[in-house]
Amino acid sequence: MNKLGIYVQVPFCQTKCTYCNFHTGVVASSRFAPYAEAVCREIREHRDLLRAAGVGEDLAEKAHSQEWLCHEAVVDTVYVGGGTPSLLDPAHLQNILDAIRETFAGNLEEVTLEADPETGEAEKAAAWVRAGINRVSFGLQSFADKELIAAGRMHRRADIYRAVPILREAGIRNISFDLIAGLPHQTKESWRQSLDELAGLAPEHVSVYLLEIDEGSRLGKELLQGGGRYSAGAVPSEDEMAEFYEMAQKALGAAGYHHYEISNWAKQGFESRHNLKYWRREPYLGFGAGAHSFSGTERWANAHDAAAYVAAVQSGRLVVEQHEKLTADGALEEELFLGLRQLDGIDLARIEREYGVTLGGRFERIASAGLVEREGSVVRLVPEKLSVSNEVFVELMR
Ligand code: SF4
Repeated sequence: MNKLGIYVQVPFCQTKCTYCNFHTGVVASSRFAPYAEAVCREIREHRDLLRAAGVGEDLAEKAHSQEWLCHEAVVDTVYVGGGTPSLLDPAHLQNILDAIRETFAGNLEEVTLEADPETGEAEKAAAWVRAGINRVSFGLQSFADKELIAAGRMHRRADIYRAVPILREAGIRNISFDLIAGLPHQTKESWRQSLDELAGLAPEHVSVYLLEIDEGSRLGKELLQGGGRYSAGAVPSEDEMAEFYEMAQKALGAAGYHHYEISNWAKQGFESRHNLKYWRREPYLGFGAGAHSFSGTERWANAHDAAAYVAAVQSGRLVVEQHEKLTADGALEEELFLGLRQLDGIDLARIEREYGVTLGGRFERIASAGLVEREGSVVRLVPEKLSVSNEVFVELMR
């Protein structure tokens, strides 16, 4: 039986990174408490709110059926992401996690908090652990101050070295680091340095993302319109980024990390259980402004605007901005795209059986181009070609 994951979105940041145009805002801290209260209310009243909004019907049905009720542990992972959720008062995080425990059956085995290194303080970290947080995902992005400054990040290299021991002393045994390949001013040497320093701190889990520049972000506008304020001219080329990715593959492999998803590496047993649900198309419920949910057959997202979200929940409503009932074709595409992101690959025989399709021909072209490999009915991306995995996905759609 699939266990349910819960995602909580906290859309507040200390500053806006130059490349980012997410629906996150730099707001007065006085807005945090009403937001946290709205999230708690949404969690506690989610059945009525979802029913009134006309979404997640099959999930509600399953939750009431024997299939779900006969298992005591229903919710097993929580991921509090953002934005920068570590900005919230730990009491707010405690209230949100209490609301989850009181509303859902289950045992919260993996509870992740996204944090920025400059927000890590001993008192806060101890309170996080008391609240039940047992995994912290640090948005480090780089160990080079020049890159951090250019990207508009608040923390510096020294903050990373200050924050990690604080977390360890507080009892966090599962730390994940995010790095971004392709930040302005990044060079092969500085990237190597970041990878070496990361390995020296030995987090249990690592995510490496290629820089994605939103067109509406300050850096995106500068790239399109010119200018020198946000270092658009110092953004590495796509070829350099691919090289950085391949360097990360080698360095992390040599440091004992198991590459289990295109952007993710883990020490054995520390794969992100919550994020695996996304790639395996298992159900999750999202709470908070802009949070996405997936029931197995429907996807929907809450309204992005945090103030509008709070006002709606306070008046007993949920504003759903996107809602999609998946067709069989849509579900099949998701199986392929999300499944192939995992380095273990996908079982074509299972997918063909479940969807009543024949897929062999679709994979022959990309297999003969050396982009995927086949072992029995399992197809997986070729590790040496992961930096061009987009080509696989484009080919699959032809
Ligand atoms: S990249 Fe993350 S921390 Fe930076 S502004 Fe966007 S959401 Fe906030």
